[in-house]
Amino acid sequence: MSYQKPKGTNDLLPGTSEKWQFVEETARLIFRDYQYEEIRTPIFEHYEVISRSVGDTTDIVSKEMYDFYDKGDRHVTLRPEGTAPIVRSFVENKLFGPEFAKPYKTYYMGPMFRYERPQAGRLRQFHQIGAEAFGSVNPAVDVESMAMALDFFKQLGINQIRLVINSLGDKATRSAYRQALIDYLEPRSAELSEDSKRRLHENPLRVLDSKDKKDQAIVADAPSILDYLSAESKEHFETVQTMLNELNIPFEVDSNMVRGLDYYTNTIFEVMSEAPGMGAQATICAGGRYDGLVEELGGPATPGFGFAMGIERVLITMEAEGVVVPVINEIDAYVVGIGEQTNIASLKLVQAIRNFGFSADRDFMDRKAKAQFKTAAKLNAKLALTLGETELAEGVVNVKSMASRKEKAFPLSDIYERFDEVYDEMMIVMFDE
Ligand code: ATP
Ligand code: MG
Repeated sequence: MSYQKPKGTNDLLPGTSEKWQFVEETARLIFRDYQYEEIRTPIFEHYEVISRSVGDTTDIVSKEMYDFYDKGDRHVTLRPEGTAPIVRSFVENKLFGPEFAKPYKTYYMGPMFRYERPQAGRLRQFHQIGAEAFGSVNPAVDVESMAMALDFFKQLGINQIRLVINSLGDKATRSAYRQALIDYLEPRSAELSEDSKRRLHENPLRVLDSKDKKDQAIVADAPSILDYLSAESKEHFETVQTMLNELNIPFEVDSNMVRGLDYYTNTIFEVMSEAPGMGAQATICAGGRYDGLVEELGGPATPGFGFAMGIERVLITMEAEGVVVPVINEIDAYVVGIGEQTNIASLKLVQAIRNFGFSADRDFMDRKAKAQFKTAAKLNAKLALTLGETELAEGVVNVKSMASRKEKAFPLSDIYERFDEVYDEMMIVMFDE
């Protein structure tokens, strides 16, 4: 009997996991520069945390949730996204309190779960890196947040991208626009896809997000939400654009862009990859403002702005742009132990080297010296330390610099007591050539 991983999931093996670490470490460094700190929330949440914030009529909640009743009959769900859990945590831990800086800037990374049809860049367990800023309505927060996402992509070597923005306005904007959209779509409803027919009355803005080609053609001539913005929302959106221009950040406005989650207000944005072969999964980052969400989850009225990016899609984009991820492919020392009697001494040697803060490995398979030297070369070992039965009897070890081929015997005690000096001495020899 052998088993396979669940559909829409991946095992990340060495060769790939280094790339993930590079992406995650880059995010941590950049986010730190912007003064964002990490919050880690559970992988599962009470169902209501997600349904209330993401919205009952969204695809995520109505079709894609991995929800179940636990043994205590509690309705829980694997998290499909990161913002709702972070907001739940923000409220539960009272991070809005006076002792915390405002805006409260936090980031997260980890797996998310959605029951979707798996395709390239679309999985059932996928991974997001996201950032949220709570407590300020200043459009500069919107722009700083977008700039941080773009900085991150630049740092990763991703250049072929497009920033697209739109505004969904405030509550008043939405209800006026909702009606205008229904008035436009209703006479054309016969031509809409089944999904969009349903959305038309449940959540008409969602029709704008349809992936159906015919729907998209109809939607292209729909009224623009930007014509329905309240004075305040209009000013906010104009300021965002002024600020993006001030930072020389190119952007496009797409008035038909909406997001797959109901909680957004005012500014929303997407970063799309223009790299060849990205197909339908070209959105690598998406986010926006959600000024009502904290209150919706029981906290004090607190504005928010955030984004999330899909790590899988970011990596596909890096691949498509030919980015080479730097990997460490060398070790400081390899211990070649010859003969069974050297087993314990080899163990002690490798540990001593590691205790000095160097990377080291050894042979465990009792292989011949030649094979062990081959491994040392393959691992790009800087030094090879050879310990045969004769050396062991004499209490010495032969140290060889793999690059300069220089060799020297050292007392074993030198390795235990001053390996750092031995290392320096052997590495300097190389430059004396
Ligand atoms: P899409 O329109 O592609 O379904 P979405 O609007 O559902 O995306 P968000 O919920 O805004 O996506 O999530 C933010 C980002 O997370 C997306 O831009 C994408 O990069 C990534 N993402 C979302 N769903 C998946 C998935 N099933 N597999 C891989 N990445 C995903
Ligand atoms: Mg989706």
